[in-house]
Amino acid sequence: MNHYQRIVLASRPHGQVTPDNFRIETLPVPEINEGEVLIRNHYLSLDPYMRGRMEDAKSYAAPQPLNETMIGGTVGEVVASKNARFQVGDKVIGMLGWTEMGVSDGTLLRKLDTTHIPLSAYLGAVGMPGLTAWYGLTQIMQPKAGETVVVSAASGAVGSVVGQLAKQLGCRVVGIAGGAEKCAYVVNELGFDACVDYKAGQLEADLASATPQGIDAVFENVGGEVFDASLGRMNAFGRIALCGMIAGYNGEQISIKNARVFLTMRLTLRGFIVSEHMDLWPQGLQELGTKVATGQLKFRESVADGIGNAPQAFIGLLKGQNFGKQLVKLI
Ligand code: NDP
Repeated sequence: MNHYQRIVLASRPHGQVTPDNFRIETLPVPEINEGEVLIRNHYLSLDPYMRGRMEDAKSYAAPQPLNETMIGGTVGEVVASKNARFQVGDKVIGMLGWTEMGVSDGTLLRKLDTTHIPLSAYLGAVGMPGLTAWYGLTQIMQPKAGETVVVSAASGAVGSVVGQLAKQLGCRVVGIAGGAEKCAYVVNELGFDACVDYKAGQLEADLASATPQGIDAVFENVGGEVFDASLGRMNAFGRIALCGMIAGYNGEQISIKNARVFLTMRLTLRGFIVSEHMDLWPQGLQELGTKVATGQLKFRESVADGIGNAPQAFIGLLKGQNFGKQLVKLI
């Protein structure tokens, strides 16, 4: 390969993301300097947080600069190395972004063992999304056996792990997802006790039927009406891990109608950003890796083919068109 392709942020979206917010570029493969490695990426991770980075707004992280490679997690293979820590052929995870190839000085680059865990899983169940689930569940919700746990965006990269881990803790686990197919998967394949299809038009009634003992802990990925429905079912001293509010990522106004229950039910809500808890990543990754390697943790992937399809796959992710962890396969 003499050349490779990457995708840069061409313009900032106003509301919905559109294909012309991105631009594909072809560049010559660079030479590496002492201490650097050249990586050929096999998979890119597409994640909802990228929508926030496309804005030039105050947030927990700096905005994605215009005309630079879109931010993102990647897994791939070292193809040239002038860094003693990495050999040609090593499989690695990094943050090289939406690009077929990239250079790293080794910072934020980690070698992967693919003997028992597929390479792509390091971007999902054994990566940042899995850790997000693990952190919110074990550090914030801390559910006990017999309690009822609800997780929204239940079939997705994060939600699917939350539900399976909560089941293993002995909880009653109820998912909320968009559509009958996603709900059937969550119950039949992942082992949730029930799943409510929020698109079926009777969210509150269906959630009430699925949570006869009320709700003790919520893992919230969506916000808006979905979150409000869970709030309306909370038991006293319930815990809420506020992980995401994807219903508002395109600028939609989302409000909380049931805010009164924070007082009346003496609830605890904590928002969190998983990348701020790196000290716990080794422990979480160890547990998740063991569970995936031994088949105790299942996952599903939506795989777009080729870097040119990354923008459309990302736009689809923000509309719920993915079914499981959204990836882009490069080779
Ligand atoms: P998913 O794989 O769950 O994909 C996103 C899903 O969100 C879609 O499949 C869709 O599921 C649902 N969705 C999309 N748009 C809407 C909408 N307008 N209203 C309701 N649901 C919608 O993504 P992830 O698992 O990667 O992420 C899940 C959440 O976790 C996101 O909110 C993300 O921002 C957050 N997150 C937070 C982190 C943190 O550190 N706090 C780290 C990682 C993720 P459906 O069809 O079921 O509606």
